[in-house]
Amino acid sequence: MCLLSHLSFLQVLLVFAKEDSQSNGFCWACEKANFRCSMARTPESALECFSEKHHDLVIIDHRHSRHFDAEALSICMLTCVLFLRPDREEASVMPLINAGFNRRYVENANMMACYNELLQLEHGEVRAQFKLRAGNAIFTALEQSQEAIEITSEDQVIQYVNPAYESIMGYQKGELIGKEIIEVPKSEKNKPDLLETINSCIRKGKEWQGIYYAKKKNGDSIQQNVKITPVIGQGGKHKDRRKGSLDVRSTTSRGSDGEILNKYIIIIVNIIITYFVIQVINIINAAQESSPMPVAEALDRVLEILRTTELYSPQLGTKDEDPHTNDLVGGLMTDGLRRLSGNEYIFSTKQPHHIPSHLITPLSLNDIPPRIAQTMENEDSWDFDVFNLEAATMKRPLTYLGLKIFSRFGVCEFLNCPEATLRSWLQVIEANYHSSNSYHNSSHAADVLHATAYFLCKERVKQSLDPIDEVAALIAATVHDVDHPGRTNSFLCNAGSELAILYNDTAVLESHHAALAFQITTRDDKCNIFKNIERNEYRTLRQAIIDMVLATEMTKHFEHVNKFVNSINKPLAESVKSVLTSPENRILVKRMLIKCADISNPCRPQELCIEWAGRISEEYFAQTDEEKRQGLPVVMPVFDRNTCSIPKSQISFIDYFITDMFDAWDAFADLPNLMQHLDNNFKYWKGLDERKLHSLRPPPE
Ligand code: AMP
Ligand code: ZN
Repeated sequence: MCLLSHLSFLQVLLVFAKEDSQSNGFCWACEKANFRCSMARTPESALECFSEKHHDLVIIDHRHSRHFDAEALSICMLTCVLFLRPDREEASVMPLINAGFNRRYVENANMMACYNELLQLEHGEVRAQFKLRAGNAIFTALEQSQEAIEITSEDQVIQYVNPAYESIMGYQKGELIGKEIIEVPKSEKNKPDLLETINSCIRKGKEWQGIYYAKKKNGDSIQQNVKITPVIGQGGKHKDRRKGSLDVRSTTSRGSDGEILNKYIIIIVNIIITYFVIQVINIINAAQESSPMPVAEALDRVLEILRTTELYSPQLGTKDEDPHTNDLVGGLMTDGLRRLSGNEYIFSTKQPHHIPSHLITPLSLNDIPPRIAQTMENEDSWDFDVFNLEAATMKRPLTYLGLKIFSRFGVCEFLNCPEATLRSWLQVIEANYHSSNSYHNSSHAADVLHATAYFLCKERVKQSLDPIDEVAALIAATVHDVDHPGRTNSFLCNAGSELAILYNDTAVLESHHAALAFQITTRDDKCNIFKNIERNEYRTLRQAIIDMVLATEMTKHFEHVNKFVNSINKPLAESVKSVLTSPENRILVKRMLIKCADISNPCRPQELCIEWAGRISEEYFAQTDEEKRQGLPVVMPVFDRNTCSIPKSQISFIDYFITDMFDAWDAFADLPNLMQHLDNNFKYWKGLDERKLHSLRPPPE
């Protein structure tokens, strides 16, 4: 934006009690100069007109003082011209200057004389006024900027720091202005020759940009992304360097002796986001000290979120006013750090389940009982009902559905493994899901496997993935929650569980699911589906499975979704075909695929969606019950069975996690039926909520 760009449309106000040759002279001159001209006859109309248009130039007729008091009027104007009759020319100009007039003009109606006067005014007073105004605007921008900005003179004396600089570095501007940069303590973390490198760059008039470790007033080092720009002012290039190194104070003190400012150096500090977070954490810590208990506790939760989430989540801080969203975010996206109570939470299954060989049914695809086979007939449709299969298989749906789906995708052929090995593997994996969990049991794994297989058949997905990716996705879906204890990561961290300690409170459950899956698979040849594949292929497959299981961790939710949108959906929208095949992007597609499969329950047909919502709520309620029993922090207080509104919790879950993710996945994979179900389900929960119902379903009529 050019702040001087509207000069050509200069607005002129002529204040003349009567029209005469002089006023006409200025009217014509305005026309010739392409200025906009308005005329006022009285001081009142002049003020009214001025307050509306804010003219750049006001010309007041002062020849006939009986008409109005030009001196009083002029004070309100920006720039004024005063007329004098030739016979009053000798009078002193001082009273007029005091009244705010900038210039006087002796009566001369000649159009060229008027025109020349206007041009001189435009290039002198008016332009100077514009520059002042532009300077003010830029100064305001500097003051408001969130980035720390420092201006020094060429000889590196600090001239200006903005408020952001003060708050980030911990200095008051009075402590810095006038000091040489060299006097401000530096961090030892910078390379020894860094300052010399920067200086030689600046001396050549070039910009320098890079990482710099600054030292705050309190002695802490902070990493900054710094941009240093030399500013060459008027006459700067021709001056002797030493003599020319002026600063603002010396410029102003020399007044008009012609030594105008030479060079400034502007330093813009773009604080790296982690530092910003640390700042926020410090502010919150300070606020907590003087806050009442409930506020301090709420701030505790904010701190948890700040400490543990990647700041990939644009919604954080905007949508989280709702307590349900708060609790979901707190419960799913944090590791419960700072809440360790020392209480041990012991897993119900410390040793992986082995299946006694007499219990392994001699099951093959061909001898699946018809009743069960029937419930799987439509397993390639999105409307497949996993709960029917759960009932028909006495809560063992994963083995049966796994056999059918793995066979459809030729997994045994790919792995070169007998169907019996696959069957044993499915059985032992399923045995390690806890059927006592209301949500995280083998039916959830079967559901995720089903969604994964469905997504793998979508054209775009097929185009981007190789057979090995498909096999990895199916295996990852099958094992992704194995041995889930029915408690969240936060709970395990708070309870100081063995697993939280083993995995350092980081992606505890997901790490466990992946590690246990490989332990179970490889410890016994009977169920080792990887036994016959080549070492390199095994490594690739193993890596892909681990990556996908870890991607189901909710702390990384926004990171995965945003990377997918930025690296895949946006380039695809611009018809960049290669995005589908690059190895990095294949990883992003696989992560998104398993994530969407994992939390696709709000996109299932309504009855299924309601059942899943009931199950997850029950699991959360059980966790809250146990937290209360054991005196542990309650991670998600809204999930209290006595008070929880299930519709509200589902609305929040959909709003916060589901909508954006499925919009992106639908844009990629084309899933109109899922989006329709999602829409219906959302309306269903809204309907219940509007009726102030807390239950899963409306009461019977
Ligand atoms: P996972 O544990 O791998 O199944 O990860 C998915 C997360 O999303 C889990 O922590 C679930 O508790 C949560 N989740 C899935 N579906 C829902 C739902 N309908 N409402 C609330 N949370 C859900
Ligand atoms: Zn899951």
